Amino acid sequence: MIPVDEAKKIVIDNVHPLEPIQVHFQDALGFCLAEDVRSDIDMPPFNRSAMDGYAVVAEDTKDAPVTLKIIENIAAGDTPEKKVSCGCVSKIMTGASVPEGADAVVKFEDTEDTDEEDMVKILRPVKSGSNISKRGEDMQVGQIVLHTGKLIRPQEIGILATVGKSSVKMYPALTVGIISTGNELVNVDEKPSPVQIRNSNSYSLASQARRMNSEVEILGIAGDRKEEIVRLMAKGLRKDILILSGGVSMGEYDLVGDVLKESGVHIYFEKVALRPGKPVVFGKKNDTLIFALPGNPVASFVTFELFIYPAMRKLMGFPSFNRTTVKAVLEGDILTKRKRREFRPAFFKWKENVLSVSPVEWHGSADLLATTKANCLLIIPEETEKLSNGQLVDIILLDNNY
Ligand code: AMP
Ligand code: MG
Repeated sequence: MIPVDEAKKIVIDNVHPLEPIQVHFQDALGFCLAEDVRSDIDMPPFNRSAMDGYAVVAEDTKDAPVTLKIIENIAAGDTPEKKVSCGCVSKIMTGASVPEGADAVVKFEDTEDTDEEDMVKILRPVKSGSNISKRGEDMQVGQIVLHTGKLIRPQEIGILATVGKSSVKMYPALTVGIISTGNELVNVDEKPSPVQIRNSNSYSLASQARRMNSEVEILGIAGDRKEEIVRLMAKGLRKDILILSGGVSMGEYDLVGDVLKESGVHIYFEKVALRPGKPVVFGKKNDTLIFALPGNPVASFVTFELFIYPAMRKLMGFPSFNRTTVKAVLEGDILTKRKRREFRPAFFKWKENVLSVSPVEWHGSADLLATTKANCLLIIPEETEKLSNGQLVDIILLDNNY
């Protein structure tokens, strides 16, 4: 049995990012950038008016109110044709190019029409530079605007569009196969007999993997017979990640560990000092990472988040791997006598500007329903006997994906 941190390190040390691929930029959402992206333009590309108003020589307005002559009307997309000189202004719209000679824009609200159509009254002085976004102030030609390792979110998609990067080098989606084992398991649409239960792990694990944008194939249920497990594994071993659930404990029908070894899987660890989820196996065959998780639904859920999540993040090219851990103030006491590190389903909330957390009621590692009331895992360190009301504890956030 090894400590949680050591197990995590073994996983991270044995996982390497996949080969990047070239994708259309709209397909990059939720994935990790595998190249530095440079701008091919200045942004703004010209001195741009930030307001609807009049492009002026600022100096002309210092004794405002002052009446000036309108020499041109410039809309966004127009090329200004006239130079603004003292005594003159050009009417200009937001997003339009500021004409030569003008060094400020007076917004419409600070002007008044006059009886003469080509004259405008400027009501207040403006400073040089007012309401003009200078060429290149946001980005410049050649500048790296997005770095390798960046998660592509909607705003990054917008930047890719801005710099004309329609094809981009990205780390690919992972392929994940999932097998559940257990004679007692039946499918979702079947009514279990009094000694059966429905297979829920395949679906919760698949969803945990899918919310990381991977391509999941649920490979089915294997009874507790070696040949059934081997048969389903054949397809799973063509994936980037193969997850097996159940059959890893010490029972007579816990065959997964043996099957993995007999199938030539290199095993890195088989037991980790945590609760729930002690019997958790990590192995590798060729390029497939294999995780065999305990069948109890909360154990399977927790061990995914602790070990598979970081492995997937690294395979996906991200520079940080673990789920976000923060400190929160514990509400109530927790008594425990475990030697192993424990992860309790818990609920955090903001209370008077402080993050506070309390464990949800749960009845152990089979109690999946309790996790539906949780939004984090509260960490109880090894060898801890008591956590006290008001003390700071570490919690792992479960619902922020990155
Ligand atoms: P095992 O790890 O195979 O010893 O299973 C531990 C417990 O988890 C048993 O009560 C199983 O019935 C239950 N279990 C195993 N696999 C699943 C599954 N796919 N979905 C829901 N519960 C499961
Ligand atoms: Mg079993």
